[in-house]
Amino acid sequence: MPVPQSQSFRWFARPLALVVAALLITVAVSGFFGLQYWQEQRAANLAQERNSEVLETLERLKTVIADVEAQRRGYLLTLDPHYLKAYGVSDESVRRDAQALQTLVAGDPLQSHRAGHLAETVAAKLREIDEIVKTVRTYSGPAAMAMIRSLDEIRSQIDQMVDHERYLRVDLEKRSKGFERRKAWLITIAVTIVAVLAGVALALARREAVRRRKAIAENIALQGDILARDKKIRRLVDANIVGVIIWEVDGRILEANDAFLKMLGYDREDLVSGRLNRTDLTPPEWRLRDLRTVAELRRMGTVQPFEKEYFRKDGSRVPVLVGGTMLERNQNQGVGFVLDLTERKQAEEALRQSEERFRTLVQFSFDVYWETDAQHRFTLQEFAESLADAPAPGSEIGKTRWEVPYLEPDEEAWRKHRETLDAHLPFRDFELARPGPDGSKRYVSVSGLPVFDKAGHFVGYRGVGRHITERRRAEEALRAMQAELAHANRVTAMGQLSASIAHEVNQPIAATVTNAQAALRWLRAQPPDLKEVRDSLDRIVEDGKRAGNVIGGIRALIHKVPPRKDWFDIKEAILEMVGLTRSEAVKHGISMQTRLAAALPLLQGDRTQLQQVILNLILNAIEAMGELDDGNRELWISTEMAAEAGVLVTVRDSGPGLAPADMENVFEAFYTTKPMGMGMGLAICRSMVEAHGGRMWASANEPRGAVFQFILPLQRDESVPAPQLEPNSAA
Ligand code: ADP
Repeated sequence: MPVPQSQSFRWFARPLALVVAALLITVAVSGFFGLQYWQEQRAANLAQERNSEVLETLERLKTVIADVEAQRRGYLLTLDPHYLKAYGVSDESVRRDAQALQTLVAGDPLQSHRAGHLAETVAAKLREIDEIVKTVRTYSGPAAMAMIRSLDEIRSQIDQMVDHERYLRVDLEKRSKGFERRKAWLITIAVTIVAVLAGVALALARREAVRRRKAIAENIALQGDILARDKKIRRLVDANIVGVIIWEVDGRILEANDAFLKMLGYDREDLVSGRLNRTDLTPPEWRLRDLRTVAELRRMGTVQPFEKEYFRKDGSRVPVLVGGTMLERNQNQGVGFVLDLTERKQAEEALRQSEERFRTLVQFSFDVYWETDAQHRFTLQEFAESLADAPAPGSEIGKTRWEVPYLEPDEEAWRKHRETLDAHLPFRDFELARPGPDGSKRYVSVSGLPVFDKAGHFVGYRGVGRHITERRRAEEALRAMQAELAHANRVTAMGQLSASIAHEVNQPIAATVTNAQAALRWLRAQPPDLKEVRDSLDRIVEDGKRAGNVIGGIRALIHKVPPRKDWFDIKEAILEMVGLTRSEAVKHGISMQTRLAAALPLLQGDRTQLQQVILNLILNAIEAMGELDDGNRELWISTEMAAEAGVLVTVRDSGPGLAPADMENVFEAFYTTKPMGMGMGLAICRSMVEAHGGRMWASANEPRGAVFQFILPLQRDESVPAPQLEPNSAA
């Protein structure tokens, strides 16, 4: 509604104003009536005055006529001229009064006519009387009578007029009384109206005063409220706990506290210069929501807090919770509250990630997470997604572990397990077997912790299970592999032994040659000594048999291993050996670390032999450090590309190390410092590396320990495969 209309409406609605208006109208009306009354009364007074004057004049006229009559009668009866002395004066008075009378009654047509007639009669009769007086010679009674008759006519006319005037006077007096009554009424009515109006005005004024007092009281309370609210808002603004802004509907930010500026990375100068605008600060996808907010604010005056984002000065985004309300004093301005949600969002994200990590951990570490109640019945089972052959979800809920089908362990083991459960003790790696879908055994290892409520009452177990069928198979495979390695070890040891064995074989052959030459010499002698020849030949047969035995034995040993030339990944080969020896290292308190270059080219050769080399070096290092009394026990295994187009493998330890003189000796066959040692390990290792076209050496580690290194050359063959791993090569 436009403002002026509403104001004028309010103005008219005020009862006091209405009363004042009524009062004014009353005054005007009574003024009008009063004036009319005053005029009428004045006219009445004038009429009364004139009436009195007319009557007085008529009386005077009568008196003068009486004088005239007395004078004439005296003269006519006596003819004494003395009677005629005042004669002219009286006549003149009569004429004057008759004329004055005419003027006085000019407003009254009837009286005016009578007055005219009287004046004429007076003039005529006076002339008649003058004639009579002039013509009389003696005293004359009849003349006097005639004169009296003439004057009687005048008198009767005067009396007529007097009667009329008297009648008028009565009428005027009646009217005057009527006026008095009207006056009294008018005054009474006026006084009553004024009194009533005054009463009403007073009542209204009182009501208005009460209303005003109440309004003022309310106003004061409101002011107090506003002040208190202002103070609270100010405190909120200054506290800088939340961002507070004062904005215009068009988006301009007029005021902002430090918290808001800091949240968005702006400073006070940006604000003062008027550069801050809510629309510019809002990312495009939030602008529609903002328009709705403004509409809601205009409609309701306030808006429910909601989450959105703002741009920081550096262009990044900050998640916020905003709420707002319009300022009543100004329909175009509002105050907004802005809470930085970054930390909450981060916490939410951290929680989500932690949950995800936990889930991942569970997924990859265990095959099942389970919970049981106080009677050991399953209440929850969550199987890993990757788990094949998991029971149908929910199929085992409500059953105990021994109520579901199992193949192992035996009754005795179950009895012990139940004792543990009933004692509410934790348990670890309880292994059991279940029948698989194909009837084979599925091995499961279960661990659990008892759960107690706040009061300390046992409420059940919570734990995890691992399907260990694969592990068991792997263990078996490992055992087979170790056996194979042991065999390879033996065979290659023999291969290396051939050098020494050749020496043994050489000996009978040399002896054979010597004996053969001796026999020839005995045969060439004259005469030949056949006994000596026979002895020599016997020795040759012995030597030959010996050599044959040696060679036969060697052939039997190495016959089993055909020469191999596979492509293989050195990193994978090393990791397998590390896995094999990790428990041994842990047992000796040794930390084993690897730094294996990724994506090295594949190598060609006997993977098993080279694994044996690495195994040997690792075991030597573990043994060497096992003898130490103190100090860190650390073992590093690394691979890298060597400068000379090959792969360099380094095994480094922090053991007692080697004396400089022994750097080469250790590679000698049968060199050993161990009471039970063979002294063949390193000799064999070197011969294997060299058989692959590489070389091997030892050096000192700093500050202590030994370093064993070997290089394996890359094949420069066109057919070298790419260095990627084949997916199934990890087996
Ligand atoms: P064995 O282990 O049977 O003695 P090896 O040929 O493997 O035969 O080792 C020969 C010798 O070299 C060992 O007896 C030991 O004295 C020395 N040796 C080997 N490796 C190390 C090492 N990492 N640290 C110190 N000495 C070593």
